Amino acid sequence: MKLTLKTLAMTAILLGPAPISAQTNSSYDRQFISWPVYSGDDLELTVNDRGTSFRLWSPKAQEAIVNLYDNGHTGKPYSTLPMKFDPATGTWSASLPEKLYGKFYTFRVKNDGNWLPETPGVWAKAVGVNGKRAAIIDFAGTDPEGWENDRGPGMKNFTDAVIYEMHHRDMSMDPSSGIANKGKFLALTEEGTVSPLGEKTGIDHLKELGVTHIHILPSYDYNSVDEANLHENQYNWGYDPQNYNTPEGSYSTNPSDPATRVREMKEMIKALHNAGIGVVMDVVYNHTAENDGSNFELTAPGYYHRHWDDGRYADASGCGNETASDLQQMRDFIINSTRYWAQEYHVDGFRFDLMAIHDIETMNMVAAALKEVNPSIFIYGEGWTAGDSPLQPERRALKENVSKMENIAVFSDDIRDAIKGHYTDASDRGFATGKPGLEETVKIGIVAATDHPQVDFSKGNNSRFPYAKSPGMIVNYVSCHDDLTLTDKLRKSMAGEPEENMLEAAKLAQTIIFTSQGTPFMFAGEEIFRDKKGEHNSYRSPDSINAIDWNNKSKYHGLFDYYRQLIALRKAHPAFRMTSQADIASHLKFDRTDSRKTPNLISYSLTDHANGDAWEEIKLVFNGADKPQTVDIKKGDWKIVAKDGHISAAADLGATEGGKITVAPRSALILARF
Ligand code: CA
Repeated sequence: MKLTLKTLAMTAILLGPAPISAQTNSSYDRQFISWPVYSGDDLELTVNDRGTSFRLWSPKAQEAIVNLYDNGHTGKPYSTLPMKFDPATGTWSASLPEKLYGKFYTFRVKNDGNWLPETPGVWAKAVGVNGKRAAIIDFAGTDPEGWENDRGPGMKNFTDAVIYEMHHRDMSMDPSSGIANKGKFLALTEEGTVSPLGEKTGIDHLKELGVTHIHILPSYDYNSVDEANLHENQYNWGYDPQNYNTPEGSYSTNPSDPATRVREMKEMIKALHNAGIGVVMDVVYNHTAENDGSNFELTAPGYYHRHWDDGRYADASGCGNETASDLQQMRDFIINSTRYWAQEYHVDGFRFDLMAIHDIETMNMVAAALKEVNPSIFIYGEGWTAGDSPLQPERRALKENVSKMENIAVFSDDIRDAIKGHYTDASDRGFATGKPGLEETVKIGIVAATDHPQVDFSKGNNSRFPYAKSPGMIVNYVSCHDDLTLTDKLRKSMAGEPEENMLEAAKLAQTIIFTSQGTPFMFAGEEIFRDKKGEHNSYRSPDSINAIDWNNKSKYHGLFDYYRQLIALRKAHPAFRMTSQADIASHLKFDRTDSRKTPNLISYSLTDHANGDAWEEIKLVFNGADKPQTVDIKKGDWKIVAKDGHISAAADLGATEGGKITVAPRSALILARF
């Protein structure tokens, strides 16, 4: 999201279970509860042997029509069909005996005596350029070869995932990517691409790094980039949804051909699946780019968005409106839309933007529906809103309410801000950059915000109670597309210090993330010290700010190798990926440290072959201070996994018998007993 008023959500408190009742809507929105609903899979367009049929949900329209076109964006309709109303379902229907492949259509509805502008509807699965008209295509022709056997990586537990968040343009636009299809879905289908100095880029880089899932920033059709003028090289993150069920045209090689974007997105997903990498879609059902001009308003005015009692749009997104997941037709839309992406595009997971705008019941239903499609699918989201909402806090899918949700995780802003400093203050430091007093909040992150006998949540900087019932409910991260990159944050908060210190802090920060319980998440390019030239809200900044410079991979090769070993270590050792609060409480043991005498020092063990680990005990010590600190390790036959900024997943950095060991400034010590 481009707005980050996360503090609002932080003030929310956990209340008891609330009855889900009509009375919780605003007085204005209560009028919609009695509307008939319809969520059959024939909404809007069906093509089969009987021909082409249209069915638009719009219970209060006075009339409705379908316009048929030969072209995706110009010319007049070649035919207009009147639609017939069915009061039981609130839908309008029309049909023709032919299969209209290659044609385009729009709907118009008459509301309060006025014909509203044309809309492709809310269920367009293919569109013309800029998404103004829906397209009728044969989806069978969009499948890459072997699509029927395409599968994402199976995963036993969500904590087994290692997530890499990326924007299509960031990965490939810079000339140093060596990629031909720059800024396109197809970029990640290109194998053998290298930087000028011969370092792997693109999908080969991802394989080399070892991440399990790519989280792609919004890739449904969004509003801000003019698909008819791609030579202008416009950039946007894409948090401005237009057509939820169609890929974004600017990421295709030909936005004017409706099938191309569909096929090319599938080709990207297939290439990643072939590489053993899953794909997570960033979805933004919480608001629409436009208010009155949105496809929701143009099909069923009033219904899909929330309002205050006086009828004004509510705006918990900070973008002008918010949607009404607590109303049945909107709830079904979210469930059916995510299910569609999982089935048609083989998407392996979903990241919900401003998830707390949605209600808990809807999110639980989404998770249950997706688990039926694919048991390995997972969902996580931002457990906050960007403004107040008519939806009561106890019904919101807030971080603090995550324990009321099954199979859904939330981002831990606790560990994020504790490690590197607060996101609103560039100069603020965190645990890894020498600021004292954040030890307990980092520990909250290490135990994935689950109840632990040695963690005092009342001393946390943010949420003050163990809000997660299990580690599968937590995504740990130190940075993402929002706010400063980790590199820029370190440059601003450690201004005047040598870059070597910043690289040490970067390694320590991510060592904490990747060894913590919960699921680790990283922002693309941070493994090669990628920056955004100090820009914190780059949602529409040019490629010169946002694109990753792959020359960095040579310049910061040591950092890249460190990340690679860190990820390999996590994947090889289930001790870092425990699946229950009880396991963490009994197998993760903090050593006694006094944060007043030895600030910025955390030490703990993963004991007794935690979670079936081959290693009997793993000792982790994090020194975030700008001076060396000495710890007393119990006597034993220890192998060194990480020390003084070096790391080896094979634990072959030497051995020690324990005793007094000095830990370098801004570094992690990891030891293992086999
Ligand atoms: Ca678009």
